Amino acid sequence: MTEIYCSEGVRLPDPPTCPVCGVLLDGTAALSSRDTKGRPIVPTTGDITVCMYCASMLVFDTPSRLRLPTTAELQTVHPQVREFLSHLVVAAQELSGQSKSKPS
Ligand SMILES: [Zn+2]
Repeated sequence: MTEIYCSEGVRLPDPPTCPVCGVLLDGTAALSSRDTKGRPIVPTTGDITVCMYCASMLVFDTPSRLRLPTTAELQTVHPQVREFLSHLVVAAQELSGQSKSKPS
């Protein structure tokens, strides 16, 4: 089993807006299957992210522009990172009230 690491959160110098909900996304943290040693990492073209406002999985088209990912892009993500991203989508759905599950 590969460990998943998370960098410190960073404010983006030229923040993108979510192409789905339009919210300005001014901060991010990086997940990796490689040790990031907790260093802040600024996203680069091709990195996958999740909008915590609308629970959309997105890709950085440029460091300041987001778009929906292609199926091929999602298939290149490390399986454990992809699984973690799926959990983030569920958490974002719950935070934004989109969750289909009923409270117990
Ligand atoms: Zn969004």
